[in-house]
Amino acid sequence: MAEIAIVGGGPAGSLCGEQLARSGHSVTILDEHLAWEKPCGGGLTHKATQAYPFLLHNSLPKKLVHSVELISSDNHRVQFQLPHPIVVYSRTVLNGLLLDRASSSGCSVRRARVTSIDTDSPRPRYCADGEWRSADFLVLASGARNRFSPSSRPLLPSELEITQGYFVPDSRDTIQIKFLRQFEGYIWSFPRNDHLSVGICGKMDSHNSAELRSHLQSFISSEHISTEAARFYSHVLPSPHEHSFSQRPVVGRNWALIGDAAAWVDPLTGEGLFYAMRSGEILGRCLAEGFPEKYPARVKAAFSDELQFAARIVRRFYRGTFLGNAITTSMVLLMRRSSVLRQLVGDLFSGTQDYTSLKRRLLGHLGLSVSEFVSCVLNTDRPASLAGHSASDSAD
Ligand SMILES: Cc1cc2nc3c(=O)[nH]c(=O)nc-3n(C[C@H](O)[C@H](O)[C@H](O)COP(=O)(O)OP(=O)(O)OC[C@H]3O[C@@H](n4cnc5c(N)ncnc54)[C@H](O)[C@@H]3O)c2cc1C
Repeated sequence: MAEIAIVGGGPAGSLCGEQLARSGHSVTILDEHLAWEKPCGGGLTHKATQAYPFLLHNSLPKKLVHSVELISSDNHRVQFQLPHPIVVYSRTVLNGLLLDRASSSGCSVRRARVTSIDTDSPRPRYCADGEWRSADFLVLASGARNRFSPSSRPLLPSELEITQGYFVPDSRDTIQIKFLRQFEGYIWSFPRNDHLSVGICGKMDSHNSAELRSHLQSFISSEHISTEAARFYSHVLPSPHEHSFSQRPVVGRNWALIGDAAAWVDPLTGEGLFYAMRSGEILGRCLAEGFPEKYPARVKAAFSDELQFAARIVRRFYRGTFLGNAITTSMVLLMRRSSVLRQLVGDLFSGTQDYTSLKRRLLGHLGLSVSEFVSCVLNTDRPASLAGHSASDSAD
């Protein structure tokens, strides 16, 4: 039975702790806030609810959202249904659920801020609330603002997004996503059980807070959302490059990074909750088997190729053009006419379609315009006749 200390009790740390405690290890989770309203949309895709059905089957407050509206930068709109709902939680509720599970599987959960770590001594040490303690292994699950990266490096501004938004006392039934001209990021409105999480994310090295705030305010007024009793939030979100994963080791002799601290986030959508939980679970299993060094390969087999693929196409998706329009605008216009594309985007959104197998799905099933459009986004087998078609060609 090894002693494991986990810095951070968010989704990554809680799942890792639960896994390890179930395998008989002695686990301490340290979090400065415990269950708190971490700035987040709180949306969980089908991938997450399939892997962790307890997220769906419980009596806690949450919202099951079945429809999404996409809005282009020039205000074209399309609405589509999801084959599986996106489950939207308040983070206080979600973190509480995950920490309770960790605690009931045997973890000791402590409210404490870790200020320093030392991974050079034979047993790694950490300083919490002014007191140094040691463990056999240190798991770093302290999120996107993680300050501890032994033998690794912190995330660079180009690997981060700034986010800001409001928790608004309002109720709606549809998720809204609004794209902006030449902007790497988007605005969202996620309906929760008793309020909305409305926010914006944008690349830290390309956009600044004032720019984000101005786009968000325009959206809020055009959608008639009142921020009178709303609470403002801001945070950072990892947005890894293709090479971030190879340049930043995530495991060492007596430590490992999981969740946002390891940058396991989809740079195209900002989805991080599933990857945080899955990376925590995978590291927990590797540690329980006594082979932490297997963690990167298992993450690769589970999901990191997907994130790398997203990193390859993200700039093209947000900044590229197709037939003279922004790719995001072409997508909205084509989706208005093509039920096949609406279904495909619905599957991507709900997490039942991954990026890496999209190309296979393309073959034979899509009409010419839609097929060319998706090829253009993925940059796969770019058709020579691209310029010959217009977005008004028959879609399906
Ligand atoms: C605005 C915004 C919207 C988002 N929307 C979505 C969404 O809708 N769906 C989705 O899938 N993902 C979303 N994400 C991403 C998602 O929030 C993260 O990927 C996820 O929270 C990562 O989980 P984690 O456990 O790695 O880190 P976190 O959830 O950040 O947890 C880290 C924990 O560590 C603790 N901590 C940090 N430092 C210390 C320290 N020194 N000592 C003790 N404790 C410490 C913190 O208190 C925190 O509880 C969003 C992110 C942002 C910023």
